[in-house]
Amino acid sequence: LAAIALAAAALALPETAAVPGGVVAIPIDAPADARPVATLDGARVMVRRDGDRWLAIVGIPLDAEPGPQTLVVGRAGRTEKISFDVGPKSYAVQKLTVAPGQVNLSKENLERVEVERQEIRAALKAFSDREPETLRLAPPVAGPRSSSYGLRRFFNGEARNPHSGMDIAAATGTPVTAPAAGTVADVGDYFFNGNTVILDHGSGLVTMYCHLSRIDVKPGDAVAAGEAIGAVGATGRVTGPHLHFGVTLNGTMVDPALFLPPEAP
Ligand code: ZN
Repeated sequence: LAAIALAAAALALPETAAVPGGVVAIPIDAPADARPVATLDGARVMVRRDGDRWLAIVGIPLDAEPGPQTLVVGRAGRTEKISFDVGPKSYAVQKLTVAPGQVNLSKENLERVEVERQEIRAALKAFSDREPETLRLAPPVAGPRSSSYGLRRFFNGEARNPHSGMDIAAATGTPVTAPAAGTVADVGDYFFNGNTVILDHGSGLVTMYCHLSRIDVKPGDAVAAGEAIGAVGATGRVTGPHLHFGVTLNGTMVDPALFLPPEAP
């Protein structure tokens, strides 16, 4: 009975916003004992029991065009489509002038970056059946947020990839802690991201920590909420020590701020 009461408890959701880079919670009508399966663009979507209903917790890609999106839901042997609208969102623009050598990569580095991009992508697409104990995350390190998700960056007038995570400024060596329990999906030392840890919290909630000076975990390790996974550093392509913190839902990078408590003034 206790377990049933727990399962039926209201779910602590991230902040929801039906915009590119946001998260939307969509009710699904299905019996309590028949968990629906939902996908967006072919990627499995988190489905959770919330009180007396099922909710799909959907991450919206940053490059989604405003307009209708379709969640495909399978339940009781049938497939149905649930449409939802994505509104526009304008993220901030940053224009930087840098030495040309810092913009254009050598052929060798371009090849390395492409291999790494695919490895990281594969880890971020993890979907395990475990249910995250919470969808409200603790900040992985204390410090001011020095760059926001979605920032549209231009180097010497050329558009680069928008910022896929949040930067938190902290001194090299400051411990980085798991914001929720999870399993280490991958670790690596990457050209752009430097020393990196990727945690799988279950049901498609995956978090990423980059530019670390030190990695304290290895793939397959189980980590508890608050456990140290590494330390802040300046590895990879960075101008100074900070933590790049990424949050992925259904294989798409969404705004980490939606999962964190508001920044302290
Ligand atoms: Zn960053």
